[in-house]
Amino acid sequence: MNTPGDKLLLGLIGAGIQRSLSPALHEEEARRHGLRLHYPLIDLDLCGATPGQLPTLLAAARMMGFAGLNITYPCKQAVIPLLDELSPQAQAMGAVNTVVVRGGRLLGHNTDGSGWTWGFRRALPGADLGCVVLLGAGGAGSAIAEAVLSLGAAQLRLVDTDAARAQALAEALNLRYPFRVSAHGDAAQALQGASGLIHATPTGMAKLPGLPLAAELLQPSLWVSEVVYVPLETELLKAARARACATMDGGHMAVGQAVGAFELFTGLKADAARLEQHFRRLLRLAPPDPDRST
Ligand code: NAD
Repeated sequence: MNTPGDKLLLGLIGAGIQRSLSPALHEEEARRHGLRLHYPLIDLDLCGATPGQLPTLLAAARMMGFAGLNITYPCKQAVIPLLDELSPQAQAMGAVNTVVVRGGRLLGHNTDGSGWTWGFRRALPGADLGCVVLLGAGGAGSAIAEAVLSLGAAQLRLVDTDAARAQALAEALNLRYPFRVSAHGDAAQALQGASGLIHATPTGMAKLPGLPLAAELLQPSLWVSEVVYVPLETELLKAARARACATMDGGHMAVGQAVGAFELFTGLKADAARLEQHFRRLLRLAPPDPDRST
C-alpha cells in the first residue's frame, strides 16, 4: 500500500489515446491521497509502434520502475501472454485493462467488468436480471457479459452484427454459466420478453452518431445501460428516456473501472464520488472528441 509522500509512475498503453481522461483522473485522485503521481500516455500511434512491440514496452516500463499500467485498444488481449499472472476475472474475460507491477512481476487485472457492475449497482439498483440483451460482443461486451452473469442474470442474449463473434462468446460463457447464454441474429427477436438492454457497440459515439437499434423496440419496462460516454447523452439514452425506461450512462462504467484500477495500483481506497465529479467536470470542459478512449 502506498503512503503519503510516495512517488508513483503509472501509464496508459494504447493507440489514439491523446485525449484520454485517465492521466487527469489518476493524478488528481493520487494528489488527494498525498501521493506524487506521474501518468504518461504511451500512444502506439505517436511512437509508430504496434501491439507486436508490447514486449519491449513492458520491459521498459519494468526497468523504469512503473508501478502499473492501464491497457486499452488494441492491446487488451495481446498483453496477456506477456504477463506473469492473471486475476480470475481477467482470465475469464480473456482481456486485461490494468497491469500491476509487484516485485518485478506483472499481474493482469480487468476492471472493465467490475467497473460496469459498480455503476450498475448505483445507477440501476434492483434492476430485473431475468433476461438481459447485450448488444455488442467485442471487448467491452465480453467484460460486461461476464459481469452481468456473475451478478446473477438468468438469461443473457447476445446480438452482434458479427454473428460468429456473438456465437463464439455465447459458447465460451456457457462453459461457465451452462444454458444461460444464447446468440441471436437480430435485436428485435432478442428483445422479446427481455427485462434489460446493455449497449456495448461504438454506435452513438461522436464519430459514429445514431441509434444501434429501432427506438420502437424500447419498451418502458426495459432498463437500458449504455457504455458509450462521449457524448454522455447518446441518442440511445435520449430515446430510452423518452420511452420512460430506467437508464445508466456510460460514465458510470468509465468511473468504476478507474476506481478499481486506482485501488489496485495504490492499495488505497479511491473516493469514488470525488472521482466521478472530477470525471463529469472534465467531460463538460473538454471539447467534443470523437476518438476519446478511457
Ligand atoms: P469492439 O470493436 O471490441 O466491439 C464492438 C462490437 O460491436 C463488435 O463486435 C461489432 O461487430 C459490434 N457492433 C457494431 N455495431 C453493431 C450494431 N449496430 N449491432 C450489433 N453489434 C454491433 O469495441 P469495444 O472495445 O467493445 O468498445 C465498444 C464501445 O464501448 C466503444 O464506444 C468504447 O468507447 C466503449 N467503451 C466504454 C467503456 C466505459 O468505461 N464506459 C469501456 C470500454 C469501452
